[in-house]
Amino acid sequence: MNEISKLSGPPQQPKRLGLFIDGKNEQRDELEFLPRSSPGYGMEVTHVALGTAADVDKAVAAARRVFDRGSWSRMPGAERARILVKAAALIREHAEELAYWETLEAGKPISQSRAEINDGAGHYEYCAGLAQTLHGQTFNTYGDDLFGLVIREPMGVVALINPWNFPFIVLSERLPYILASGNSVVIKPSEMTSYTTLAMASILQEAGLPDGVVNVVTGTGPVVGQALAEHRDVEAISFTGSTRTGEAVLRASTSNFKKTSLELGGKNPQIVFADADLEDAADGVAFGLCFNAGQCCVSGSRLIIEKSAQEEFVSLLSEKLKRVRIGDNFDSASQMGAIVSTQHRDKIESYLTLAQEEGGHVAYGGERLSITEGGRFLRPALLAGITNNMRVAQEEIFGPVLSVMTFEGQDQAVQIANDSPYGLAASIWTKNIDKALGMIRRVRGGRTWINTTIAGGPGQPLGGYRQSGVGREGGLTGVEEYTEVKSIHVGVGKRNHWIS
Ligand code: NAD
Repeated sequence: MNEISKLSGPPQQPKRLGLFIDGKNEQRDELEFLPRSSPGYGMEVTHVALGTAADVDKAVAAARRVFDRGSWSRMPGAERARILVKAAALIREHAEELAYWETLEAGKPISQSRAEINDGAGHYEYCAGLAQTLHGQTFNTYGDDLFGLVIREPMGVVALINPWNFPFIVLSERLPYILASGNSVVIKPSEMTSYTTLAMASILQEAGLPDGVVNVVTGTGPVVGQALAEHRDVEAISFTGSTRTGEAVLRASTSNFKKTSLELGGKNPQIVFADADLEDAADGVAFGLCFNAGQCCVSGSRLIIEKSAQEEFVSLLSEKLKRVRIGDNFDSASQMGAIVSTQHRDKIESYLTLAQEEGGHVAYGGERLSITEGGRFLRPALLAGITNNMRVAQEEIFGPVLSVMTFEGQDQAVQIANDSPYGLAASIWTKNIDKALGMIRRVRGGRTWINTTIAGGPGQPLGGYRQSGVGREGGLTGVEEYTEVKSIHVGVGKRNHWIS
C-alpha cells in the first residue's frame, strides 16, 4: 500500500484506483473512471475504475484457476489461519491510513472509522480460529458394515457485493468467513467506497494469500454487480444492500441456482418501557439514531415508547440529541458525520416533508448544517404525531430520522414492532427481566438487543427475517454458509452380495 504522508485533511489530488485481478493491480489505458466526492468536504478524493463484464469474466476465471489448483482451497486450516492472523496484524499496522480513506469516501467521523478498522481486524483473528475448527459429523449407528461421515467443503468461487455505508466492517464480517473454509472470491465494493476493499486485497496478498483467491472488480451495480450475480461459474453470492437491489440479485442468481445470502434493509424498533432506566435508554436511542448519521441497516429508526413515559422520555432524548457533536470528520471529537451523497440527502429531506403531508410533524431537528465547505451535514430529526401505517414509519429512510410512536401494554408494543415488511433488528429497554425476555422472543428480528443497541462481536450471526434478508453472516454460521455439505458412506468388510 502507498504511504499517506498527511492524514489530517483531504488529499491535494484525487487518488486513482485500479482493479485487482489475479494478484495484479490493473490500471490499463482504456479503463474509464468514476470520480468520488467526499461527503464531508465535497471535493473529489478518488477516481474509481469502471470495470466491465469482461473484467468480471477475467476475475472469475482467475478465482476458479486457483481454486482448482488447491493452493488455498486445500491448504491445511492451520496454514490458512496463519495468513488470516498476519492479515489482521497488517490491518492494525495500516489502521490509520485505512481509517483516513474510509472517512474520506464514506463521510464518517475519524473516531468511528478507526473503531471499524480495529473491529475488522478482530474478524480476521476470529476466522483464523474457525479455519482450524470447522468440522463435520460421523455416524457409527448403521451396524458393522456401514459407517457414515459428513464433511464440509469450500464451495468454489463466491461473489461478494457490498454497500457504501460500512465499507470495511461489512467486508470484514464476510470476507474472512468466506476465506476460512477455502473459497475464492470476486468482490464488488460500492462505487462510492472502493478504497479500503482494494487496500484489503493488497494486505491479504502481503499476508501470503495466493494470487487469484481474492479479486476486486470495482464499478457500477448494473454492470459489474449484475454480471457477477448472473455469472454461471460463481457458486455462491453474498449481497448486502437495499431490499430492492437484493431482489434483482436474487433473480439474476437463478441463472445457475447460486446459493444466495442477502443482507438487506430494516426499519428497526426501539421499544422503551416506563420501567427502563430512561436516561440510559435515551442515550442508547440517540446513539442508535445518530450512529453513521442513521445510514445504518440496524439503525433504531422507530421509537415505540410506553405512553406513560412519553413526555419525560422525549424530553430526555431531545436533550441528548442537542448535545451530539456533529462536526468535521477529521476532528476526533466528532460523533456524527456527513450524508453520503447529495441525492441521498435529498431523499432523507423528502421524508421530512412526507411526514407533514401524512399528518405528522418534525418535533426536533432535520435542518442542514454548514460545518465544512462542501460537506453535507444534517441535524437528527424527531418525527411526532406518527402512526405505524404511515410511509415514514414503514419505509427505510436510511438517515438520522426517528418516527416516534406510543404503546400501552406489551401486546400493542409487539404488534407495532412486528407490523413491518422488514425484520432486521430490535432493541428492548426495561429493567424487568421477565418482560425483556418475553418481549425479545416475540419481536421478529435477526439481531436484537436488551438494554443496549448496535453492540456485539464476531461470534454472533447477522441477518434478517422477512424482507431484511436470507441467510446469516458471521460466527460459525457465517463460515458454514459458504461450504457444501457432503455425506460419505463407507462400506466396511466383505460385502453381503445382492446377487448370490
Ligand atoms: P444498494 O442496494 O444501492 O447497493 C448495494 C451494492 O449493490 C452496491 O455495490 C451496488 O453497486 C450494487 N448493485 C446495484 N445494482 C445492482 C444490480 N442490479 N446487481 C448487482 N449489484 C447491484 O445499497 P446501498 O445504497 O449501497 O446500501 C444501503 C442499503 O444497504 C440499505 O438498504 C441498508 O439497510 C443495506 N445494508 C444492509 C446491511 C445488513 O447487514 N442487513 C448492512 C449494510 C447495509
